[in-house]
Amino acid sequence: MKIPFLDIAAQIRPLRTEIDAAISKVIDSTAFAGGSFVEEFESQFATYCDGPFALGVGSGTEAIWLALLAMGVGHGDEVITVPSTFLATAEAITYTGAKPVFVDIHPQTYTMDPALLSQAITPKTKAIIPVHLLGHPADLQPILHIARQHGIFVVEDACQAHGAEYHGKKTGFLADAGCFSFYPGKNLGAFGEAGAVLTNNPDLHEKIRVLRDHGQIKKYHHTMVGWNCRMDGIQAAVLNVKLPHLDHATQLRRQHATTYNQLFAGLENIITPFQAPWVKHVFHIYAIQVERRDALIQFLAHQGIGTGIHYPIPVHLQEAYRHLDYSQGSFPVSEKTSRQFISLPLYPELTVEQIHTVSQAVKNFLHQSPHA
Ligand SMILES: *Cc1c(COP(=O)(O)O)cnc(C)c1O
Repeated sequence: MKIPFLDIAAQIRPLRTEIDAAISKVIDSTAFAGGSFVEEFESQFATYCDGPFALGVGSGTEAIWLALLAMGVGHGDEVITVPSTFLATAEAITYTGAKPVFVDIHPQTYTMDPALLSQAITPKTKAIIPVHLLGHPADLQPILHIARQHGIFVVEDACQAHGAEYHGKKTGFLADAGCFSFYPGKNLGAFGEAGAVLTNNPDLHEKIRVLRDHGQIKKYHHTMVGWNCRMDGIQAAVLNVKLPHLDHATQLRRQHATTYNQLFAGLENIITPFQAPWVKHVFHIYAIQVERRDALIQFLAHQGIGTGIHYPIPVHLQEAYRHLDYSQGSFPVSEKTSRQFISLPLYPELTVEQIHTVSQAVKNFLHQSPHA
């Protein structure tokens, strides 16, 4: 039995008729770039996240970039984030002209370690981007506390955390801006590229709204130099169909994660995901840590089980960021997870039987090489 790492087709199948009808409506109305379907999604998604404004944009990367631009981040500034993230978080910083500065992650939550934050702040620090990695919200209260003392903005990278909660509140409106990706593989995925920026701040909202549309306040009246970062109507229409199903999908992800945790309980050579008591984890990714990670990937692949690594090279050691002059050992926790993380199949449509097959295969591997 083959078990793929991701099965987007299985997720679409039951919604296909509804999605086809929604796409047809966009075609009939020709509202392709921005327009009424995007506005509807913005309103639905803001409501879902319990806040006032959401702006549809072209991707999660653009969402972070625009949020930083609207905050006035640019050349000569520094923006703090974590090395254990998808490169896009750092790229968005670089594309404002600012310099990414890293703070290591906490060994249990895999998100920014607030205890290490103060020492990374300099007079040039303009913003901090905690990443809700794998679907586990970062510990925002101490981060916001430090940021407020220094007058620094905080941007949530919530690209992996749709519907996740921190102290009972949904991610997205917990800081100055919240950025989401609707890349097809994310917990809420479009049929192509899409993203959103959320903010409680009317000033930031207005700036981002204008920036994403060539700096236009109305057609052909440009008050700033912006960029083309509009969301497509077709993506919005697909997301409008999928959003009402997100909570049920999240519930299934959480159930599956609990099942894996139970099946792995008591094994010494495997670290299962931690869930802080103050969060609702949405398990975008179910990652465990094992020492012989690469051998386990091979072992599972031979049995038709797909896996992933999130991520094999931390950002500070990527060739693209060699000029920042970080070396091996700079961020030991991020470096350790990059060596030991393996992401197992976890999606709503996975069956309990499949979860048993995967976990049994992992156990067989650990059993045959007990010092793994
Ligand atoms: C996916 C992702 C992004 C970028 O989103 P895109 O829509 O692919 O541009 C940024 N940060 C994190 C943590 C992500 O997982």
